[in-house]
Amino acid sequence: MTDPRVERLERHLIRLRLVSTKSRLDTLLEEGARSELSFLDFLDKVVCDEVESKDAKRAQMRTQMAKFPLDRTLESFDFSLQPSLDRRLITELETGRYLANATNVLLLGPPGVGKTHLAIGLGRKAIQQGYSCRFITALDLVHQLAVAEQHGALETALTHFGRHHLLILDELGYLPLARAGGHLLFHLIRRRYEKGSLIITSNQPVGSWGEVLGDPVVATAVLDRLLHHSHVLTIKGESYRLKEKRRAGVIPVREGEAK
Ligand code: ADP
Ligand code: MG
Repeated sequence: MTDPRVERLERHLIRLRLVSTKSRLDTLLEEGARSELSFLDFLDKVVCDEVESKDAKRAQMRTQMAKFPLDRTLESFDFSLQPSLDRRLITELETGRYLANATNVLLLGPPGVGKTHLAIGLGRKAIQQGYSCRFITALDLVHQLAVAEQHGALETALTHFGRHHLLILDELGYLPLARAGGHLLFHLIRRRYEKGSLIITSNQPVGSWGEVLGDPVVATAVLDRLLHHSHVLTIKGESYRLKEKRRAGVIPVREGEAK
């Protein structure tokens, strides 16, 4: 017969949603009986394990909800290949401090230099620090906002995309947006201004955003808000994919470049 105190403990752990402790209760009780830890140390360990397990679960859920398109991390980014990149700034961004004051990050540069990779890496770091994140391409976002507008649900969609601590807008500028698209994006950026951070990746310098957003007046208003509190990282250099191809001998190695 089970000890009624253990039964009560199990009921209470379920009620308090201390799932990890509940599932390991037998082991913990045994460990506790054998352990030479003080009561304080043992209780501290049990509570720390539960918190760790809850944090890990939340991070896993937030990673799923972020909808990252690729399995990339900052740790798998080879910074030696991008000497133009301000490594110190990336290290600062890894701390997540920019998220606390809704600062934006613009990652600019030609295709293949690792903008999306870095954005995903920073998104994962943000999640590790307890922030929520959503990744979406600029075209998808504008499309979703346009569909919502057609159904009279623009406000709901703006609230949805305004809610995340960090919104990553990928590939702004690969295809220019129609004027209406630029306006929808402006609504969202205005909504998030000084409330939540944006990471935007673009292959276009900000000077060309008038064409990108289909309306120079809106582009000025967008940039005014985006750049007010922002870090701008401009990545120069060559596409990683091309470098790989050169290394593999598919295309010729350029003079002075390491194999
Ligand atoms: P961009 O978004 O600038 O077009 P991506 O981030 O999509 O470039 O990078 C293209 C591919 O090359 C991805 O698979 C990415 O993981 C990889 N890549 C780019 N730069 C690096 C790097 N410095 N180290 C490791 N992988 C890289
Ligand atoms: Mg990209």
